[in-house]
Amino acid sequence: MLSRKIEYIKKQTPEIYMEAIRALKDHNVKKYIFKPSNNEIWLVVGKEGEYLVVDYEHNGEISFACSCPDYLFHSLFKTGKKGIIRRRKYCYHIVARMLAELGSLGGDNYSKFVDEIIEEDAVFHELISEIIAEAHPI
Ligand SMILES: [Zn+2]
Repeated sequence: MLSRKIEYIKKQTPEIYMEAIRALKDHNVKKYIFKPSNNEIWLVVGKEGEYLVVDYEHNGEISFACSCPDYLFHSLFKTGKKGIIRRRKYCYHIVARMLAELGSLGGDNYSKFVDEIIEEDAVFHELISEIIAEAHPI
């Protein structure tokens, strides 16, 4: 469950949790809804660009992936902390989306910070190619 995952993240990496809340409060979390398909994409404006946060199903549970370098590095490579070797499968962009999707936590309503943007389907591919170009500059 999402709230359990967030509790875990808050305990393990409080700095990432706080950065996610800051991103929400700064209105850096954008939800694009494309019409008429109702396709959705979530973007988080980061320090060096906009990142795409996608969801997928893993063992019957919802999981997230992000297009940022931090996520890529920590989800692919094992990092050591206090002698424990583990992978971190989230970044603050993902945590920000999780908080937004959850809506509220401990009396705080995070979904209200999400900017919802309605676009036509024709813009969808344009937006995706822009993000890919940003992630892989030539
Ligand atoms: Zn990220």
